[in-house]
Amino acid sequence: MSWESTVPYYRIINEIINRQLGGHHSAKIAMLSVDFAEIEELQTNGNWEKAGDILADAAKKLELAGADFVVICTNTMHKVLSQITAVINIPVLHIAVETAYELLGAKMKKVALLGTKYTMEADFYKDKIEEFGVEVIVPDEKDREMVNHIIYDELCHGEINPAARNKMVHIINKLKAQGAEGVILGCTELGLLIKEKDSPLPLFDTTEIHATAAAVRALR
Ligand code: GLU
Repeated sequence: MSWESTVPYYRIINEIINRQLGGHHSAKIAMLSVDFAEIEELQTNGNWEKAGDILADAAKKLELAGADFVVICTNTMHKVLSQITAVINIPVLHIAVETAYELLGAKMKKVALLGTKYTMEADFYKDKIEEFGVEVIVPDEKDREMVNHIIYDELCHGEINPAARNKMVHIINKLKAQGAEGVILGCTELGLLIKEKDSPLPLFDTTEIHATAAAVRALR
């Protein structure tokens, strides 16, 4: 979620499976897509438990549909991961863990995290990355508000604005000055806006990373 970022997930997973297996091969995917308005309202009201119940129910349905593992296609909603894992017997491929592997592979010691205010301000995400020995910094409050606004009010509606890209580059430059060596695009819509060629620092796009990890695991 939002569905804008479900599209690249679906494309990336199928592209990798097809590249590996050739011919008409495509990924076997059971997808449960929620109504993001319901989730967004619960986030705004701080009702994470209810949002967690909705996702737990969705994960259970995927298990019943025969899924071997689950990918929660949003960074933010990993906040309610424990509610989800409590009701299923199949593994969840954690978006931050997969991202941490990439950071280690690129020898990153200190990175900046961009995402929703929930992801940047709570500990569930930063702590997971820091468990791998990589320091995480986030933008200041004003910039966090800006990034959050761009995500919810533009990218989740499919609006890709050059002005927003310029703002993002400006924020990344400030984080670079604070010692960040790379940037986690810790929101699955951010990769729609900013690409490696636009950025003053290497980007770790969680959509690319997570979807690739899902395809590789499925192939195994
Ligand atoms: N897709 C986003 C993320 O990766 C934000 C939307 C949401 O709140 O789930 O965090």
